[in-house]
Amino acid sequence: MGYMERNAEKRIDPTLLVEGAKSIISVLVYYNPGNPSVSTVPPKISRYALSADYHVVVKDMLFKLLDLLRNEYGSVSGRAFVDSAPVLERAWAEKAGLGWIGKNGLLINQKLGSYVFIGELIVNLEIEPSNEVAPNRCGICTKCIESCPTGAIVAPKVVDARKCISYLTIEKKSSLTEEEKSMLNGWCFGCDICQEVCPWNSKRNEAPNEKLKIIPKIANLSPEKLTSMSESDFASTFGETSILRTGFLKFIRNINQSE
Ligand code: SF4
Ligand code: SF4
Repeated sequence: MGYMERNAEKRIDPTLLVEGAKSIISVLVYYNPGNPSVSTVPPKISRYALSADYHVVVKDMLFKLLDLLRNEYGSVSGRAFVDSAPVLERAWAEKAGLGWIGKNGLLINQKLGSYVFIGELIVNLEIEPSNEVAPNRCGICTKCIESCPTGAIVAPKVVDARKCISYLTIEKKSSLTEEEKSMLNGWCFGCDICQEVCPWNSKRNEAPNEKLKIIPKIANLSPEKLTSMSESDFASTFGETSILRTGFLKFIRNINQSE
């Protein structure tokens, strides 16, 4: 959270991120891996983390897009961002007409739902902006607010990170308090509950992108294997995924609390 405050200016002004920035190209990449047992039977892992690290996969896609722009328009300067820099990614995706911010605080696309990664390419190329902002289609639904086991969605679009299982299992650096340990509800990495209950995610088509398909050795992990994992098992199982960034000690800490 402190990181966001320290980078507040850059989050608002893209020219502080890319000199001469004129356009932000916002993209969504669908990743839903379906309904694997590793995300439904404790200790549970959030669906987004079951495939190759999205930071790498989506950035590669953005670099290819930058190459295409260069082929078409000549010299174009740009930088790709995937959840890695002080970027207002949901707000920009919404502004680009890619969806609306749901009451669970996530970007929802009418066709894809919310199991999407957001990426941005900030370029010094003037591009006609998209003017069609998608209407908010949450309507009177409050399923995510009602289903959050910790009451972390304290108001529509407002998630209290201190109560959010995703934050507690992935971001929180210090040890978990006794109260926090009791809040994990079977999750050892992330939490998908407020997405699972969302009607806009009811279609469970698997992501077509080969690189974002669930890694077979992770799909086949049993709860027993997860709970008895050594550090070297952890590295060989999750080496390609974003889970590796969290580190073995935190992962095991979560597993011990999530049973
Ligand atoms: S990720 Fe889980 S804990 Fe966090 S707001 Fe959604 S349902 Fe609640
Ligand atoms: S569960 Fe309902 S209220 Fe929550 S984000 Fe989805 S549509 Fe919106």
